[in-house]
Amino acid sequence: MPSDPTAATPRAGWNFDNSFARLPDPLYVRLRPVPVRAPRLVVFNRPLCAALGLDAEALAGDAGAMIFAGNQLPQGAEPLAQAYAGHQFGHFTMLGDGRAILLGEQLTPAGERFDIQLKGSGPTPFSRGGDGRAALGPMLREYLVSEAMFALGIPSTRSLAVAATGEPVDRETVLPGAVLTRVAASHIRIGTFEYLASRGDQDGLRTLADYCLRRHYPSLSAAANPYLALFSAVVERQATLLARWLHVGFIHGVMNTDNMAISGETIDYGPCAFMDAYDPATVFSSIDLEGRYAYENQPNIAQWNLARFAETLLPLIHADQKQALQLAEEAVRAFPDLFRSAWFSGMRAKLGLITEEDADQALIKDLLTAMQESHADYTTTFSALALETPGQLSLLKGPALAQWLGRWQARLARQPEPFDAAQALMRAHNPQVIPRNHLVEEALAAATQRGDFSVLERLLAVLAKPYEVSPEHSAYCLPPAPSSQPYRTFCGT
Ligand code: AMP
Ligand code: MG
Repeated sequence: MPSDPTAATPRAGWNFDNSFARLPDPLYVRLRPVPVRAPRLVVFNRPLCAALGLDAEALAGDAGAMIFAGNQLPQGAEPLAQAYAGHQFGHFTMLGDGRAILLGEQLTPAGERFDIQLKGSGPTPFSRGGDGRAALGPMLREYLVSEAMFALGIPSTRSLAVAATGEPVDRETVLPGAVLTRVAASHIRIGTFEYLASRGDQDGLRTLADYCLRRHYPSLSAAANPYLALFSAVVERQATLLARWLHVGFIHGVMNTDNMAISGETIDYGPCAFMDAYDPATVFSSIDLEGRYAYENQPNIAQWNLARFAETLLPLIHADQKQALQLAEEAVRAFPDLFRSAWFSGMRAKLGLITEEDADQALIKDLLTAMQESHADYTTTFSALALETPGQLSLLKGPALAQWLGRWQARLARQPEPFDAAQALMRAHNPQVIPRNHLVEEALAAATQRGDFSVLERLLAVLAKPYEVSPEHSAYCLPPAPSSQPYRTFCGT
């Protein structure tokens, strides 16, 4: 008898192996998402579906809505809420998934492992008085910005779907509810380690560290001091990540230790936003009153967060705590150099510098100073350098920028490589389009106020190719019209 071809492939391609659910108890609580009244799929990521080995056709309709709203579990799911703690604006707090459920880990056809998590899926033991729900606007915002970051080539969690719940959520006003399906290398945070450390659970810490080594840094398991190696590897990934954020003008907005992933992916898109006019002191989040998470302060904060991570690992790094501290401090102190080197290398690419000269650092810094003084738009300034032929840089206004332009052109002329090569490098590093605040707001307003998702879909399509925008989409590249009101973002949970 011929075998049934569908029997080998579970329906829709779910292929879970839930290694986190095999970790010791205090790290999670098993529970299911709370079903919602009227699940409806409003955004769905078909390319990501395919990359995960899922059948987009089987999931695009009502069956997918049931799964992505949490009303039905995919085959093989072992739902749980993860426990974690974190330093929020510098203060230690016990947290945990207060409105998220990890369904399990999807093994992809390429052999990769990704967490599939529902966000906004109902209360958990970690909800701390919250309703466990999410509003449609913020979930669409996370979908949009995380997918834009991915397309920019920046490590990030991704978004598979947004399902409307048909239920209202009570915030300052009553808003439509939604559930986001988030895909991540893992959801293990610095705060996950802090949670175990605060309980004095050294066995748990070792188990979690071994797990992170196996899952995210397998080559380091054999290192002489694997826990120090794990820490240094996270320092390196975060240094690179922070440089990448700065290269595109990204401001995370709430870089608490519970929002920093051990995997090195950008995670937890809340009050994040991209800078328009270049100003290193830019802050968008309405609750960040002191500018703790301002654009230029992000690398310092990352290093501060990593120091909190190091503290949790001290008992594993060395039996002698004095020596452990010395080793950990040395590893934390590596961050600024790693960051600067990643930052300079990216900035050099943004300026098309192939050869190296001593004065390159000054050339880069002087451009930023001139941009700040003339309130130049960050993204269009760099894309103008990449796109226009020298001498026609109409977007660069003001005497300081004009003078800088002369220096830069002379610098490029000293490279043996033809301008084409410099231009190709610049085009690959200077996005033409980013999820600008006014575009994001326009798309979210259409979706949440009028039920019109077409504005969002068009924006998503343009953001999917940020380095090659076709002429008919050039309006997406423009900075916003001048406004008297500074842009503000809200946690809006
Ligand atoms: P976030 O600011 O999204 O990183 O969330 C910080 C913490 O608050 C996490 O533990 C969340 O699970 C929790 N949280 C945020 N919003 C809610 C909500 N509406 N209900 C319950 N917990 C929430
Ligand atoms: Mg968070």
